[in-house]
Amino acid sequence: MKPKFKRVMLKISGEGLAGADGSGIDAEVITKIALQINELHQDGVQICIVAGGGNFFRGAKSVCTGMDRSVADQIGMLATVMNAMALKSALEGLLIPIKVFSGIRVPQVCDDYTFKEASRAMLDGNVLIFAGGTGSPYFTTDTGAALRAIEMHCDILMKATQVDGVYDADPRINPNAERYDTITFSEVLAKHLNVLDMTAVSMAEAADLPVMIFALNGEKSIVDAVYGKEKCTIIKKQ
Ligand code: UDP
Repeated sequence: MKPKFKRVMLKISGEGLAGADGSGIDAEVITKIALQINELHQDGVQICIVAGGGNFFRGAKSVCTGMDRSVADQIGMLATVMNAMALKSALEGLLIPIKVFSGIRVPQVCDDYTFKEASRAMLDGNVLIFAGGTGSPYFTTDTGAALRAIEMHCDILMKATQVDGVYDADPRINPNAERYDTITFSEVLAKHLNVLDMTAVSMAEAADLPVMIFALNGEKSIVDAVYGKEKCTIIKKQ
């Protein structure tokens, strides 16, 4: 069986890297992700990764403390760099060629993002991790993932979440909620389905970049999702 996608952008939220309590970095969780990235890399899939930062800090939640939102978001973006470095370390442990590019400058830690350098690193066969989101406040890493996926010409943006797709109601509350196999960007926007940041939805729609929503669980969900074997919802234009 062949992978369904040649070049993918994998968005993992901060929570997806954390342990059961949803905060910090869980070494076992990171190892499971790294092993799957390794398998896909060996299978010839070109992989870009964006890590969120919500396991450490979310800017929007901190403005109530009186902190300026731009400063709070800088802290959030630095949190994504920490997650990126943890992932990098796990991938390096498996001898996977890997480059981390950050949208905010942290030169002692990782390379600054430039389209030119990232494209070159991709052509050289590296797995790419994009840290720092878009590099600007008032955005999220969903939007950073959509942006970098479009720039890197990824075939799909795969968002790993706690839920295995987009439902017509919250499946954790409503047992009769039904999962969509596919749904359009317009429907997601019109129904305010909270599965991906709205800015990211608009960007993906404009660039005709399909988005997959799937659950990050077990040992194989990322690999299975790339091979089209995982339960998911695909958000697309028509
Ligand atoms: N952030 C930002 N600009 C970006 C991406 C992220 O300012 O382009 C900040 C923002 O404060 C956000 C935090 O980084 O809350 C962590 O990102 P996000 O909330 O998207 O992480 P996730 O929910 O995916 O863990």
